[in-house]
Amino acid sequence: MKVIKIALQLSLLITIAPAFSADYLLHVGSLIDVEKLKVYKNQSVRISGNKIIALEKGFIEKLGSETLIDLKDKTLMPGLMDMHVHLSSEISKTSYSEKFFMSNSDFALRASVFAKKTLDAGFTTVRDLGDLAPGVVVSLRKAIDKGYIQGPRIYAAGKSIATTGGHADPTNGLHSGLMGDPGPKQGVINGPEDAMKAVRQRYKEGSDVIKLTVTGGVLSLAKSGSNPQFTQEELNAVVKAAKDYDFVVAVHAHGAEGMKRAVLAGVDSVEHGTYMTDEVMRLMKKKGTYYVPTITAGKWVAEKAAIEGYYPDIVQPKAAAIGPVIQSTFAKAYKKGVKIAFGTDAAVFPHGLNGREFKYMNEAGMPAIETIQSATLSTAKLLRIEETLGSIKVGKLADLVAVDGDPLTDLSLMENISFVMKDGVIFKQ
Ligand SMILES: [Zn+2]
Repeated sequence: MKVIKIALQLSLLITIAPAFSADYLLHVGSLIDVEKLKVYKNQSVRISGNKIIALEKGFIEKLGSETLIDLKDKTLMPGLMDMHVHLSSEISKTSYSEKFFMSNSDFALRASVFAKKTLDAGFTTVRDLGDLAPGVVVSLRKAIDKGYIQGPRIYAAGKSIATTGGHADPTNGLHSGLMGDPGPKQGVINGPEDAMKAVRQRYKEGSDVIKLTVTGGVLSLAKSGSNPQFTQEELNAVVKAAKDYDFVVAVHAHGAEGMKRAVLAGVDSVEHGTYMTDEVMRLMKKKGTYYVPTITAGKWVAEKAAIEGYYPDIVQPKAAAIGPVIQSTFAKAYKKGVKIAFGTDAAVFPHGLNGREFKYMNEAGMPAIETIQSATLSTAKLLRIEETLGSIKVGKLADLVAVDGDPLTDLSLMENISFVMKDGVIFKQ
């Protein structure tokens, strides 16, 4: 039986060989090279298994049994990456009470739907910066990697690390009887020792990256949206511990003081960055810190803050003040040459709308092709995975997406991705 099987496999090999044994041959109308910031017309891309094995000019012929995919009327680009999502939540008028009524399994099943929406929107890789339901996003990542469910590659922070009463203290705003006193295990720290323990706890739980909330935030039930919430010593301790585990460190920050301390400590990215000063921008340039703007979230909360009763009373004024500022901060930071990596804060607005960010970045002065670079090559560099992902190159993983027409003349097309391939597998066509 075994002999027959081997013979069969051999004969299959012989029928394909010596031709190029690509599994897919893509005929592409326009191809975006995010390294050279150029567009090439009429290209062929060969994919074997999960890798790109050849790029050639013109529409070349099939060489074997590979499947031909016609993308002649489309623009192909690397799989998109969003550096700031929260797949275990989605904020709405009624979401604040969810944690009392939903179990972790409820959160997990819903997260699987959000993951699929994100992948269908062309985002083949995401960084999940904070799990409201402990363990859910790490489990989601495992289920996607094993092929049980469909979703993007996930780099998960697990629980965001905060200080007592800070933006990601999970007991903010609760009745005193329910507040308790969460510690580093729950992601709440006070002092450098706790900071180290919180990082190591995330390692133990299977996190891939570390997220800190170094200033107040908009949607938590605490008064300030921008005050500094970590000391310099605590931040230094987090970064020191994170380096031992090769963690990329991302910080949520609206106020300048908290941002400055985090950049000085050596974090990898600043999220939101609302009240970023010239001094912070200079420091970020010097240190090579990325800025992940999340303009979509800013615009969304500003819009919702105008609807009476949409957000809790303590949140509404913060949303109205901070939300509208982010786009203009991005405009300044981009102009000054701060490194930009694409991120939206999906969950603040419905998952799957991540593609809106492209046109918002463009409105603020970033050329269309650079917005796409910021969501591919730049994000891959931030995650330190540019050897395998982030551009369409021979030897890299086959994460590819396409849109109908020319997104460089109309970035709203990025909200309607028509072809999605991740790891050499087609998920949408
Ligand atoms: Zn966030």
